[in-house]
Amino acid sequence: MTISVFDLFSIGIGPSSSHTVGPMRAARTFVAGLAEHGLLDRTATVKAELYGSLGATGHGHGSPKAVMLGLEGERPEDVDTDTIDDRVAVIRDRQRLKLLGEREMVFVEDTDLVMYRRKTLPAHPNGMKFAALDESGAEIAAHTYYSVGGGFVVDAETTGELKIVPDTTPVRYPFRTGAELLEHCATAGLPISQVMLANELAWRTEPEIRAGLLNIWNVMQECVRKGCTQEGALPGGLKVPRRAKALHDKLIHEDGAEDPLHAMDWISLYALAVNEENASGGRVVTAPTNGAAGIIPAVLHYYTRFVSSADEDGVVRFLLTAGAIGVILKETGSISGAEVGCQGEVGSACAMAAAALAEVLGGNPQQVENAAEIGLEHHLGLTCDPVGGLVQIPCIERNAVGSTKAVHAARIALRGDGSHIVPLDKAIKTMRETGADMSTKYKETARGGLALNVIEC
Ligand code: SF4
Repeated sequence: MTISVFDLFSIGIGPSSSHTVGPMRAARTFVAGLAEHGLLDRTATVKAELYGSLGATGHGHGSPKAVMLGLEGERPEDVDTDTIDDRVAVIRDRQRLKLLGEREMVFVEDTDLVMYRRKTLPAHPNGMKFAALDESGAEIAAHTYYSVGGGFVVDAETTGELKIVPDTTPVRYPFRTGAELLEHCATAGLPISQVMLANELAWRTEPEIRAGLLNIWNVMQECVRKGCTQEGALPGGLKVPRRAKALHDKLIHEDGAEDPLHAMDWISLYALAVNEENASGGRVVTAPTNGAAGIIPAVLHYYTRFVSSADEDGVVRFLLTAGAIGVILKETGSISGAEVGCQGEVGSACAMAAAALAEVLGGNPQQVENAAEIGLEHHLGLTCDPVGGLVQIPCIERNAVGSTKAVHAARIALRGDGSHIVPLDKAIKTMRETGADMSTKYKETARGGLALNVIEC
């Protein structure tokens, strides 16, 4: 499968790429299929069923809202985040929704959208089934999808096997592993970002790539700006207070000259701002997931604010390098908390950000790969145990800590010569195997760890 940087960084909504973005995409895909096959007018009811981690923590992750708006034809990249709650309230109140914005039908959430807390579909922890019924109650279409992390949705055959339609676009420097990537860098004499850029040219022109990446950067900045202005408690019942605005208002009045770790507070601020926006269902860039969406923007903000040589070219190179490491993680590891725990989300984002920072600070490919490896290695075994099934505790602070860890990893790598004992590929293999051994209760089910020990108020 060939993965583009634009697959890894997509503009979406919070709070979860797998539980919000994926279900919205799946629901829209299902109704678009009904329209394509001329079945929309015959559809009297749609039933949706969410399984596994989606069923267990979907309420806290906004999955039902995402499904309802997806059925109405909304897409995560352009749905108006300011109107989501009002629209869902209307659907719930009237018990009606408009399929693809056209076909109005009865939709009773309690019976038409079933969340199975303890049932799982065979191919992946995040399964969804959709069925369309006609006036007589006969099923006229049914489909199963899996939300496999990062907003990626795959189709399933009736056998339950995943039917991934791979993108087979030939790229200039194909790679799946860190070793293959480094080999290309060595033979072509290119840094990692330029290898990735050469591959991206298979889909888009260079000006399009640059404009697309700078647009992603703009959305990241807007997300931070918005997060720094919002006050009050986050939605969901835990009454978690937003902290970014208060921290921002303090930091802008400090010059930091006396504090050698002043920049660290700014890094934390950027991550808190993004993850608070994410937790409130705002517009975020999935990077590579929503739960871990604060780390790459926080480290990129650090670069643009605190590195004197920073410029737009550096921003583009940063995102390309992060994307290259994301390709390897997605191809040979996992970026799904439901599959391997938080090591796959915050660990992956930290590895991507560390590598990206190392490259724009002048690291050679070996140092960059080393930075990614350090970023991932020190998240190995990290479980996913969101309190109340909400992407708030531990997720928000974990992004702040993961961001400073990424800067730290880059600095350790840049102080070395690139040689290191544990290659990135081995760290990823370890993540995958550790995830396979990890109990299900630590994989985005909110049935273990902090989720069990912290009492919900
Ligand atoms: S604990 Fe980690 S993997 Fe789980 S929801 Fe939070 S950020 Fe995502």
